[in-house]
Amino acid sequence: MTSSESLFEKSKIVVPGGVHSPVRSFKGLNMTPRFIERGKGAKIFDVDNREYIDFCMSFGPLLLGHANEQVLEKLHAALDRGWSFGAAERYSLELSEYITERIPFVDQIRLVNSGTEAVMTALRLARGVTGKNKIIKFNGCYHGHTDSMLIKAGSGLAGEADASSKGVTPGTAADTLILELGDTEGITECFQREKGNIAAVIIEPLPANNGLLVQKQQFLEFLRDITKENDSLLIFDEVISGFRVAFAGMAGETGITPDLVTYGKIIGGGLPVGAVGGSKEIMEQLAPIGPVYQAGTLSANPLAMVGGLETLKLLDQNFYHHLNNNTQHIVKHFENFFKAHDHYKHLKIISKGSLFWITPGSSEIRRACDIPDDLFTTFAPLFDDLIKRGIYIAPNPYEVGFVSGAHDSDVVHEIKERLS
Ligand SMILES: *Cc1c(COP(=O)(O)O)cnc(C)c1O
Repeated sequence: MTSSESLFEKSKIVVPGGVHSPVRSFKGLNMTPRFIERGKGAKIFDVDNREYIDFCMSFGPLLLGHANEQVLEKLHAALDRGWSFGAAERYSLELSEYITERIPFVDQIRLVNSGTEAVMTALRLARGVTGKNKIIKFNGCYHGHTDSMLIKAGSGLAGEADASSKGVTPGTAADTLILELGDTEGITECFQREKGNIAAVIIEPLPANNGLLVQKQQFLEFLRDITKENDSLLIFDEVISGFRVAFAGMAGETGITPDLVTYGKIIGGGLPVGAVGGSKEIMEQLAPIGPVYQAGTLSANPLAMVGGLETLKLLDQNFYHHLNNNTQHIVKHFENFFKAHDHYKHLKIISKGSLFWITPGSSEIRRACDIPDDLFTTFAPLFDDLIKRGIYIAPNPYEVGFVSGAHDSDVVHEIKERLS
């Protein structure tokens, strides 16, 4: 028995399923999770002292790689000053100013502890501001685990929905309308049917939690227009795409301005942070000056603020140029690897910026229903092969691969070798 195996046995006794977030469990993969001891740069090391090139990167936050030296130095200094005050402090001010100075449509920002919390706040704010109740969400977009977002398409009319988790009330499910990405007709119909009821449309402008479902510019523009026409808000959930596809995320890439944006993951550089941002007019509806309540004991925790700010400070044009370039080389090496093996010949790789996703199939994949049925069956043997070669990808075929600034030309070369 390896050390990972024995730790997993112990974990299952005291933790449901042995993990604190379901996607870490290696479910359906005929192996137990690797217990990670430490990480440095592009690599992680497990408790059995095995080394892996990491493409999971904590599911996105580690845009600079593991234990970046510059961030580490700031974190050490922050630790020495004490790590929570529950009072006003300058560290969150510095992060807030850094972001609002660089992202034009974010006049104000409220910092929270996770992406889920950011989305929860954005939805409550949208309802508070518009005085409307219903939210349109898209099939194939993930917005964290708040009740009203754990909703799947129902069997009836376009837009009708059911809970996708036990424990979510039918009342909550009824306030969320589910539509297909790209379905402009269905969305138009839904706005007509629900006249005056839709508080907001929420979308991952680059859906990256259920495969990588790259959307057309026109579709995002359509959402901007229809929400405006109906006095509803447009919420971009940029918890993955923010600071990754560009500093200003997909809003920056597309030039489309949402009413509210949510951030998470990179904004804390690997420490727990989320954020909601938007115009002063909307944001000032939040407590303590507005009627929409929101709070948090550990919100804007100084350690997380310092980790996030130092991470963001290292993201210049040059950084993104190298990041995207190195990703293209890595994608090429995977493609060559698939071509070289008959049992992988049906696989392809979809990439955007520093994200990539491996899937079977040859036709376009832009909606959840375009994802081939054999995704899981083809994934298990690939995952097994990669982990044996010292390459760690997220242990689930719906998750994307994350490249970091630490995946430099040396690591790219190493990938090539491990795949040959
Ligand atoms: C990860 C993610 C969330 C949830 O963030 P947590 O920090 O896991 O709560 C929400 N929306 C999107 C788009 C995400 O990728």
